[in-house]
Amino acid sequence: MVNARYIFVTGGVTSSLGKGIISSSLALLLKARGFKVTNQKLDPYINVDPGTLNPYEHGECFVTEDGAETDLDLGHYERFTNVRTSQKNNVTTGRIYSSVIEKERKGEYLGSTVQVIPHITDEIKDRIKILGNTGNYDFVITEIGGVVGDIESLPFVEAVRQLKREYGKNAIVIHLTYVPYLAAAGELKTKPTQNSVKNMLSIGVQPDIIVCRCEKELTKSVRDKISLFCNVESNSVIESIDVPTIYKVPLNMVNEGLDTQVLKLMDMPSTTPADLTKWKQFLYRLDNPVNEVTIGIVGKYVELHDAYKSISESFIHAGAATQTKVNVKWIHSESLEDKSKEQIQEILGQLDGILVAPGFGSRGIAGKITACQYARENNVPFLGICLGMQCAVIEFARNVLNLKGANSVEMQSTTPYPVIDIMEQQKQISNMGHTMRLGNYPCKLKPQSKTALAYGKELIEERHRHRYEFNNKYLADFEANGMLATGINPDTNLVEVVEIPLHPFYVGTQFHPEYASTVESPSPIFVAFVKASAKTNP
Ligand code: GLN
Repeated sequence: MVNARYIFVTGGVTSSLGKGIISSSLALLLKARGFKVTNQKLDPYINVDPGTLNPYEHGECFVTEDGAETDLDLGHYERFTNVRTSQKNNVTTGRIYSSVIEKERKGEYLGSTVQVIPHITDEIKDRIKILGNTGNYDFVITEIGGVVGDIESLPFVEAVRQLKREYGKNAIVIHLTYVPYLAAAGELKTKPTQNSVKNMLSIGVQPDIIVCRCEKELTKSVRDKISLFCNVESNSVIESIDVPTIYKVPLNMVNEGLDTQVLKLMDMPSTTPADLTKWKQFLYRLDNPVNEVTIGIVGKYVELHDAYKSISESFIHAGAATQTKVNVKWIHSESLEDKSKEQIQEILGQLDGILVAPGFGSRGIAGKITACQYARENNVPFLGICLGMQCAVIEFARNVLNLKGANSVEMQSTTPYPVIDIMEQQKQISNMGHTMRLGNYPCKLKPQSKTALAYGKELIEERHRHRYEFNNKYLADFEANGMLATGINPDTNLVEVVEIPLHPFYVGTQFHPEYASTVESPSPIFVAFVKASAKTNP
C-alpha cells in the first residue's frame, strides 16, 4: 500500500484569504496530474458540527452524501475536484473533545491525566491519518480553519508540528498570508507575512511554501525578501493575486508552479503537467456566454450570500454548461410580504426564473409562498428546493385545492385557518440518528417528466436535509388538479419531486440538488432550469 502524503494549509494575518480555494485548487492540480487526492477541513470551534450554526454567522451548512453536516469549504473541495467527501473530511474541536471525553469515561486512558498534549493532539492526528490510511489517496490536503495564533487553533498546529516530525518530507505546510499594498507608500508590504511566519515558528512549525494573497503582482524584490526572511526557497513564494472568479485560481497556481514545488519538496517523481483542458473549456464557456438570464433567489438569509453558496455556485456551473450568463437577483422573502399585486409584480416581474430557497422556521414563509404563487400563475420557470418545494405544495393546496389551512407544523403561524398538515414530520427516517433526513436517498423519476428528462435517467440519488415530508394522504387530490409527484423514494414512498406539467417549468425538489453540482458535473436540474429560463427570455 502506498503511503499517503500530507499537505497542511494554514492561514496567517487575517481570515477570509481563501484557504479553501487554495486547498481546492491544489487538489485539482494534483488530480489533473493523475494523483488521487482528498481534502479535509479541521475547524477550531467547539460545536460538534456546523449543523446547528446560524447561517448568518457561518454561511451554508454543506451536506455530504453520507449525511454529515459540514463546513461550506467541503463544498468548494467537491466543486473543484469532483471528489466526494464524507463525515471524515470535516473535524471540529467539539468532535475531538467529545470523543476524548467519551474515551476517558470508558476508562480507555487507564487512569492517566487526560491532557491537550498528547491526548487531544493524538485524537487530531488520528482523524487526519484515518484518510491517509484508507489506501485510497496519494495526497491528503488538510486545511486548518482560523488564523495561526488563535488560541483555538493551537492544538491543531501542534498536531501538524508532530506529524511533520513523524513524516519528514511526506508532510509539508503551505501557509497562506496577505501581502497588502500601501497606496501612500506605493509599496507591497511583507512585514505581516514575516510576523505571521514568526508566529508559526514560535509554535515549532516552519512553513514550506508561502502563498501570498495580494492585490498587486509581487515584484522580484518582494519575493526575495519573503524567501529570505521566512526561510523558504524562492520557488516556494507563490503569488495569489485577486481574480474575478475563484475558478481562475487554479490557473494562477499552475503558472506560479505551486503543484511543481509541492512535488519537488516531497521528493515525488516529476510527472506530466496537470491536464487542465476540461477546466479551461469550462472557463471559456463561462467567459463567453451566448445567452443571459436573470434569476431571483428568494430566501431569508439573502444578506449573506454565503448562506446559499452551493446554490449560487450551481448557477455558475449550469451557466457555463449552457453558455448562459446567469445574473442572480437576491430577494428577501420578507420583502414580498404584505404587498399589493402591483408591488409584487414590480419586484418579480423582471425575472426570467424564480428559485425559492431552502430554510428553517416560519419567518419569511409567507413571502416564499407568494413567490411560488407568482411563478405558477405567470408561467415563470420555477425551482423550489426543500423548504422551497414545501412552500410550492402548500401554495398549491391553498390556492388550487382550496385547502385554506394547508400548512406544515413548522409554518403554523402563517394561516388563520385550522391547520391541514400538507407537510408532516416523519420519525425514524434518519440514517445517522438525527431527527432529520440527511444525506443521499434514492429517487425514482416518472418517465418523461421534466426532472427525468433533465437527469437523462429514472433512478437518481440526491442529498437531503429536512424534517418534514409531503403528506401522501393528499397526493391524489394534487395529481387530479395538475401537480404531480414525479419523483418518489422507492423504499419509503415519500414524495421527492413535484411538477406542474402544464407549466413551462415548475419543479420542486425535496432534496438539495445544489450540493452535488460540480464544475465537471453540473446539477442536471439547474441546467434544465437555466435552459427553461433562457427560453422564456426572448
Ligand atoms: N425546514 C424544512 C424541513 O425541515 C425544510 C428544510 C430545508 O429547506 N433544508 O423539512
